[in-house]
Amino acid sequence: MRINRKRLEESMTALGRVGETPKGGLNRLALTDDDRRGRDLLVRWLRETGLTVTVDQMGNIFGLRGGREPLPPVLMGSHADSVPTGGKYDGQLGVLCALEALRSLDDHKVVTRHPVGIAIFTNEEGARFQPAMIGSGVMAGKIPLEDAYNARDRDGVRLGDELERIGYLGPEPCVPRPIRAYLELHIEQGPILEEEGLPIGVVEGIVAISWSRVIFHGVQDHAGPTPMRIRHDAMVAAAEVVRGVREIPRRLGGDMVSTVGRLDVTPNITNAIPGRVSLAVDLRDPEDAKLDRALAMLDRVVQDAAKGEGVRQEIEHYWRVPRTPFHPEVVGAIDAAAKSLGCGHRRILSGAGHDAQYMAAICPTGMIFVPSRAGRSHCEEEFTPMDPIEHGANTLFLAARDLAGRAG
Ligand SMILES: [Zn+2]
Repeated sequence: MRINRKRLEESMTALGRVGETPKGGLNRLALTDDDRRGRDLLVRWLRETGLTVTVDQMGNIFGLRGGREPLPPVLMGSHADSVPTGGKYDGQLGVLCALEALRSLDDHKVVTRHPVGIAIFTNEEGARFQPAMIGSGVMAGKIPLEDAYNARDRDGVRLGDELERIGYLGPEPCVPRPIRAYLELHIEQGPILEEEGLPIGVVEGIVAISWSRVIFHGVQDHAGPTPMRIRHDAMVAAAEVVRGVREIPRRLGGDMVSTVGRLDVTPNITNAIPGRVSLAVDLRDPEDAKLDRALAMLDRVVQDAAKGEGVRQEIEHYWRVPRTPFHPEVVGAIDAAAKSLGCGHRRILSGAGHDAQYMAAICPTGMIFVPSRAGRSHCEEEFTPMDPIEHGANTLFLAARDLAGRAG
């Protein structure tokens, strides 16, 4: 029992035209006219497949295929929005493989005990409205609906108003509900599967993530007449921290990653010694305990940098998500499906957040990764060859079928 590769490829091409960039990438920001066109096409396909289509208060789209018994459904899904000048694989591939799996259940006349369905989540990327993963976040009860509606884009446009404008402010309550399992196929967005020549990553969970804000207050002064010996330069302290943050994973080892992705400099002009610099630090590790050690090291790096330059420091570890382990039964079903296909696979952790992270809070959840060429994503060069995509779609199809229980 296999999916139909040609049909999957055709739907990838058709949806990929909606919001396509001149260089062959994708620019389909959440709740724009292109997002609406993409949603309309998907809804048409879901209806043609005979699914019962519903839209919830967050614009999340669901399509359900009935089971033999009135039990909680197995859901497969991902998101259909992209970043600006993104690629045609991030999110969209998971949605289309889920649709292909549902179409294949019909091809093979499979009757399942549990219903099986698709979930297409709103604004996963967080490129237009923050926070990211807002549709699944509200559904998991982690983000209040009103906060989500009041999120505004760069031009001050409200998310709630845009949902209404594009016709996807649905009537279904966006709340946690009984779900047998949630499965998400996604591109890896890292280099491991390609480097090891494996088509399938059986994702065991998502790494722990922590965000910190560091601020140095120095003495703002003229870049000319102020001798070096009396300077207290906030930028010099910040530079020490950039270097120190890079050192933390090297000292702790393993798979930790660290990034200073943002610097805000005051006054940020050529001829003034910076009086104030703030830095944003992103730290990620598979183990929560190791992340704690990294944060203690970061505190020390910041203290030493402040002392060395004679500036005042503030540090705040303001956002933390613990490691999200996926459900052993779902991970096991994905593993078994990959094994039965005889294709190469390995256990892997996700370094990026996904809708599956929120879904894991309300139901048994697992993910399937397929390789990203050169590990690249969120760019027009994003690419995954059709062979691993076919393996991934088959793994998704078989795992969902097995979790839904075959009824003859
Ligand atoms: Zn994604």
